[in-house]
Amino acid sequence: MVEIAAIPAVDPDGSAQHVLALDIGGTKLAAGVVDMSGGVHSFVVASTLAEEGPDRGLERLFDLGRKAVDESGIAWEAIGAIGIGAGGPLDATRGVLIAPPHLPGWIDIPLTREAEKALGLPAALENDATAAAAGEHRFGAGAGTRHMIYLTISTGVGGGIVIDGRLYRGASGNGGELGHVTVDCNGRPCRGCGRRGCLEAYVSGTSIAERAQEAGMDGAVAADVASAAKAGDPVATAIWDETVDALACGLTSIVNLFEPELVVLGGGVVSGTGEQLLGPVRTRVRAGSMPPAAAGVEIVAAALGKRVGVVGAAAIAIERLGAGELRRHG
Ligand SMILES: [Zn+2]
Repeated sequence: MVEIAAIPAVDPDGSAQHVLALDIGGTKLAAGVVDMSGGVHSFVVASTLAEEGPDRGLERLFDLGRKAVDESGIAWEAIGAIGIGAGGPLDATRGVLIAPPHLPGWIDIPLTREAEKALGLPAALENDATAAAAGEHRFGAGAGTRHMIYLTISTGVGGGIVIDGRLYRGASGNGGELGHVTVDCNGRPCRGCGRRGCLEAYVSGTSIAERAQEAGMDGAVAADVASAAKAGDPVATAIWDETVDALACGLTSIVNLFEPELVVLGGGVVSGTGEQLLGPVRTRVRAGSMPPAAAGVEIVAAALGKRVGVVGAAAIAIERLGAGELRRHG
């Protein structure tokens, strides 16, 4: 048996004041040490290089985690747990990545068990959009709310749902796929799920760029389309209006379904276009939702920016630690 120095206990008296957060994206890995108030003590990133396969990828991820702890200046003994965010499908309860499309070949990876083995701390896994929702709810734009919807609009569209102050996960952690709410059942094919007319098929950065390409705006991304529309370009205006329509339509259904106090919109498309997107969407959702759900709903931009993945994963670890749900395997 190999002796490893300084492996901490599983925070038996609740004295650990920090968690290590890991975020696995299709192109980038991120890690950071976060305290119980959401303060980020270190933040490091590396390329995922997903094509090198899961063994090498996990090695890089855990090395990055060690680097985050080193750079934070926080002692390992003061870190109570590891939170990990990754794209689904996954099994949050068992801590297993099932077959995420952005990580080809990473099939049935027992991620939390591997993290515990490598880093000596109990670990929790969550869908990255759900984790981001937890981060915005605990430490960001949604702090203090009880009923909150989070939507991240970037390459794809992900969602997270907070009901009565608690994260809604579904049976195994794959619920809250708000990007696949249908806005036109005979509409554009959805790359994310294979059906037609999902919100994601119209408002994702990928879809906006694709529709721009089809309309002859070669190489334009969402922010280009938005600024050309603002300048009065008729082709860009048509694409932008369709984007606003689809988002307003999908969000109206979501608001009718959940009656949230707050809708938080994050992701690159939102940060790149701001009120040009939020303004008309806010007006239309309020006008279109069934009263009285419509009257109270606020729609705002996310607050955590590029660190949302790490802060979200940390929020998951903090929540699971607090609930006494984190156990070492075996
Ligand atoms: Zn879909």
